[in-house]
Amino acid sequence: MGKLVPIPVELNNVDLKFECPRCKHPIVRKGSWFKVIANFRCQNCSENVRLGYPDKLAIFERHKRLAQRL
Ligand SMILES: [Zn+2]
Repeated sequence: MGKLVPIPVELNNVDLKFECPRCKHPIVRKGSWFKVIANFRCQNCSENVRLGYPDKLAIFERHKRLAQRL
């Protein structure tokens, strides 16, 4: 672990969605944003959400699956 997240470059400007683990409030940000942040504060419940490597991978995998369904 501790590796850089291999985010596909084509996702840099794509809106990706992540749900706050506490309140399920959806957070939508560009792929480039998810690439660099390690944690953020939920606008809805003020929870400080840690976004680790597996969480980021899950976001990108989820986006890929949704994209393939189109
Ligand atoms: Zn929240």
